Amino acid sequence: MGIVLDNLSKIESLPGGGLALATSDSLINWARTSSVWPLTFGLACCAIEMMAAYASRFDFERMGVFPRPTPRQADVMFVAGTVSKKMADPIIRIYKQMPEPKFVIAMGGCANCGGPFYDSYAVVKGVDRIIPVDVYLPGCPPRPEALMYAVIKLQEKMRKMTVKGGLGATPLQAAGSRKLI
Ligand code: SF4
Repeated sequence: MGIVLDNLSKIESLPGGGLALATSDSLINWARTSSVWPLTFGLACCAIEMMAAYASRFDFERMGVFPRPTPRQADVMFVAGTVSKKMADPIIRIYKQMPEPKFVIAMGGCANCGGPFYDSYAVVKGVDRIIPVDVYLPGCPPRPEALMYAVIKLQEKMRKMTVKGGLGATPLQAAGSRKLI
């Protein structure tokens, strides 16, 4: 209980400690940030680093990051690797199958802007051309620690979400940037 109270903002304990009051926003955001469930989804070499993050040395699950094999149970997509034009349609379809609120982390130079394949006729010059991206993670490839840091930045964004303000974590998202596709 102590750990829970420490991680909730805007919480008040009544004298005696038998009852605690918190806003619904802080409770929902605490639950959301404590269970970031990513879709298992790798496109190229960056996916090896993503898989390493799940393994015992880095142990992503201690942060509540628990990979899911279906988009219907996932709330974040790590786009780990080169986005070829052939894969653009499947990525959009999978993204649409995820329930709201959903988030995207573009992992590595390829997902950010095409990376070393920027000049290729067959590569999308950044996954944000087809789906909205919440966190851009540079590197070729980024290490597992960097992916963890990207999740921490995403959690910071999640903590700003309010029930009243809709699903957007930022004014741009609240205004409908998620309707890009
Ligand atoms: S950014 Fe580098 S490591 Fe990642 S998928 Fe592209 S080429 Fe591979």
